[in-house]
Amino acid sequence: MANIIDGKQVAEDVIATVTKATATLAEKGVTPGLAVVIVGEDPASQVYVASKSKKAKACGFHSVQHTLAADTPQADLLALIGHLNADPAIHGILVQLPLPDHIDAGAVIQAISPDKDVDGFTFVNVGRLGTGEVASAFVPCTPAGSMLLIERERGRDLSGLSAVVVGRSNIVGKPMANLLLAANCTVTVAHSRTKDLPALCRTADILVAAVGRPEMVRGDWVKEGATVIDVGINRISAPEKGEGKTRLVGDVAFAEAAERAGAITPVPGGVGPMTIAMLMANTLVSASRAAGIEPPKF
Ligand code: NAP
Repeated sequence: MANIIDGKQVAEDVIATVTKATATLAEKGVTPGLAVVIVGEDPASQVYVASKSKKAKACGFHSVQHTLAADTPQADLLALIGHLNADPAIHGILVQLPLPDHIDAGAVIQAISPDKDVDGFTFVNVGRLGTGEVASAFVPCTPAGSMLLIERERGRDLSGLSAVVVGRSNIVGKPMANLLLAANCTVTVAHSRTKDLPALCRTADILVAAVGRPEMVRGDWVKEGATVIDVGINRISAPEKGEGKTRLVGDVAFAEAAERAGAITPVPGGVGPMTIAMLMANTLVSASRAAGIEPPKF
């Protein structure tokens, strides 16, 4: 039976490191500042934003939230980003996606200063990661958190291991592949056009699923002893819990995969808690850099 990777515990460790380093920065007169911007009233986005702001406060950050009406003109949003870029009390800017249809999300994201882009979505940070300049990049939070779980399991140097990342999104799949490559894995990125995905997955010492399809990766796709990272979060109906009830599952059929994997993340409680923890870590790193202080290693 596989080792079940406790993402909640690792996330708590990251938050403890951030909180301690924040207290040290405060002694030097620096308080990390995180600005979260939300446009419109999407209920799921509001829940995410509220939990990010709450966690930032718990870490000792200066936390500000800008809630804009759904019909806010793009120019007003860009003006706010410009203001936050120039504000020395703000070290991290996060624009909650999705944005309303009349706003060009790409233009808004690229308007964020790369030095405050704690989501790691600007071209500068994507380029740093893509050229192997991982230490100077802000890495998107979900793959950064997934990588930390892999490192805790298998160490920082993954030389000689083969990794398969299923999914090629800009937010998860591509940055995940770049992180694994930077750690000396031999990486294959699979997607919806990949042929014989089960056979490809069976070659992976490290298998990352970021697809958005409930339990698509079956047990017999998993190599014996592999480390399996399940990024997927899918809500499916759960009639066994009662009428109209639902439950969360990942992109991996957990029980089957756990019989063959060496280690595996559960859903929930695996990658999920790491995302918000890495957002706090990125903001701390940004504030430390701005103050010319060496940030802690995560
Ligand atoms: P996405 O943008 O929809 O990308 C999904 C990827 O999966 C695409 O590259 C797609 O291929 C590929 N794909 C779809 N069907 C496939 C199939 N049958 N076989 C092989 N590949 C297939 O999704 P995402 O934003 O990367 O998110 C992926 C999952 O992670 C979702 O469940 C999401 O909820 C979850 N997520 C979790 C967190 C967290 O905090 N834990 C954060 C972000 C996302 P094509 O490119 O060919 O279309």
